[in-house]
This record gives sequence, C-alpha cells and structure tokens, in this order.
Amino acid sequence: MTNLCISCSREVSTIANSVIFKCPKCGERIVRCGACRKLSINYKCLKCGFGGL
Ligand SMILES: [Zn+2]
Ligand SMILES: [Zn+2]
Repeated sequence: MTNLCISCSREVSTIANSVIFKCPKCGERIVRCGACRKLSINYKCLKCGFGGL
C-alpha cells in the first residue's frame, strides 16, 4: 500500500516524521509527510474539506 502525502503527493515511507491519521470530521485517512509538516503546509481532507495545519 502506498502512502502519498496529501499536500505534495510524495511517498511518505521514505520521509522522516511523516504521519498518517484519520480526519477528525469524517474519518478519512490523511497522510502528511515530514517535509510538509515542517513547512506548516495546510492539509485538507479530500472527502469533506476539513483542513488544518
Ligand atoms: Zn508532503
Ligand atoms: Zn474529512
């Protein structure tokens, strides 16, 4: 299974400090890579539009 960052679409398994969590609103799986977290790039749930930092 590939885990692509929701912001930059890179495979996160090779990127440190990456996180996979469930959308607080709808439970959709959200993947973020360590690079985007470090840059504080906003994420947005593809399913319900819920977003955050
Ligand atoms: Zn990323
Ligand atoms: Zn959602």
